[in-house]
Amino acid sequence: MPETLEITPALPIPEHLCGEVQSKLAYVDESILTARVAPGGERITLQLSQPADGDVRARLEEKVQRVVTTMVKGAIRPKVQVLEDHLERPVPYHKDPNDELFACRELSQEATGIFTLGPLLTRLVAFFEDRFLELADSFQAEPYRFPILIPARYLERVNYFRAFPHSLSFVTHLREDLDAIDHFAAHAACDQHGALNMPLDAFSKIETLLSPAVCYHLYFALADRPLPGGQVTATAVGSCFRYEAINLTSLERLWNFTMREVIFVGAKDFVLEKREVARQRMQSVFEQIGLAYRVESANDPFFIGEFRKQVAFQSAFQLKFEIRARLPFKESTLAVGSYNYHQDFFGRHLNITLPDGAPAHTGCVAFGLERIAYAFLCQYGLEPANWPAAVRQGFSYE
Ligand code: ATP
Ligand code: ZN
Repeated sequence: MPETLEITPALPIPEHLCGEVQSKLAYVDESILTARVAPGGERITLQLSQPADGDVRARLEEKVQRVVTTMVKGAIRPKVQVLEDHLERPVPYHKDPNDELFACRELSQEATGIFTLGPLLTRLVAFFEDRFLELADSFQAEPYRFPILIPARYLERVNYFRAFPHSLSFVTHLREDLDAIDHFAAHAACDQHGALNMPLDAFSKIETLLSPAVCYHLYFALADRPLPGGQVTATAVGSCFRYEAINLTSLERLWNFTMREVIFVGAKDFVLEKREVARQRMQSVFEQIGLAYRVESANDPFFIGEFRKQVAFQSAFQLKFEIRARLPFKESTLAVGSYNYHQDFFGRHLNITLPDGAPAHTGCVAFGLERIAYAFLCQYGLEPANWPAAVRQGFSYE
C-alpha cells in the first residue's frame, strides 16, 4: 500500500522552478514512486513504495529540503525569450494517444523507458527523419556514424559527470575470469524485479557508458588538433541514453531515444549564423507539417548542485532554444528539438583550434525522433486521413 508524505518546502518554490524541482525529486530516494510539487510551489507530495517510520520520514524530508534549498535559494527567474509562437495553430486531435497506441500495438513497453515502435510510428519517424536530412543537406553537412558507447574518460573531459550525474547509464561486462564466467553461466537469473542475482564483483570496472548525446562524438573526433578547413558541418543520427527514473513515462520521456543532429564547428559567427538559418528553415518545414509549437529559450536539465549557476549562464548567453510542441490533451508542451550554442566550451576542453589558434566554437540542432512523432500524433491522431497533406503524401503508405 503506497504511503503519502507531504512536505512544506523550506523556501517557497517559485512557479518557474516547480517543474525542475519536481523532476529532480525523482533522484532523491529509491522509495519514491511519484513526486509532485503543487503548482503554487507551497507543497510537495511524495508517494512512497512502503510505509515509512519517523526516522525514515525525517531523512527523506531532509534530502528533499536539500534539493529545494540548493535549487531555489538565490535563483533568478530567467527571462524566457520567445523566437517563434505557433502554439495556437489549429490542430484536430485533443486526446491522449497513448492508450490507442498500446491498444493497436503501435507501442509496446519492454521495461521502464524502453519502448518498441510499430509500423505507423516507425514510418512517421522516417518521414520526420527525411525532413531533418533535407535540412542537413541544405548545409551540405557531412554524414557521420557514431558509436552508442562512449568512454568514461571522454565524458570526464567535458565535465559531464558534474553536470548530469543522475542520467548516466553505465556499461560493464563479466571480468575475464573463468570462474566468474562459469559461475554466471550456471547461476544467473533475474529476481521478481528483473534484477540479475549476480554480485557486483563478477563485473568489470566501468570504463564505458551509453552515449547521452550525438554531437559529443564529433567533438571528440576533432579533439587535439586544428579544425580541418577552419570549419566543419556534420550530421548524424544516434541512440542516446538518459536515465530519468520515475520521470520515464510513455513516449514523452525515454531511457533510450534517438536524436538526429546537424552540428556546426568553427568561428563564433559561423556557428551562430548557421544555428539561426537552421531555425528559419525549420520554421517553414514545421508550417507544412502543421505542427503547433513555440521556440523559446531554455536550459539543460543540470543536476541539483550545478543547476542554478549553469541555468543562469545558459540563459544570459542565449545558449539553448527549444522547439516545444503543444500536447493538446494535457494543455502542456514537450521539447521535440533544440537549437544549441556551446560557445567555445568543447573547443577549450578538447583542444579543437581554429586557424588563428583560438578554440573553436560549436553548436548543434538536435531533434528527438520519437518525441516529434509522438507530439504529431498528439495533435493529429492516428488516422492518416486526418493528417496535413504534406505528411500524408510524404508518408510511405501513399
Ligand atoms: P547536448 O547539448 O547535451 O548535446 P542536445 O542539446 O543536443 O544535447 P537536448 O536538447 O538535450 O540535446 O535534446 C534534444 C532533443 O532530444 C530534445 O529536444 C528531445 O526531443 C529529445 N530528448 C531528450 N531527452 C529525451 C528523452 N529522455 N526521451 C525522449 N526524447 C528525448
Ligand atoms: Zn548536440
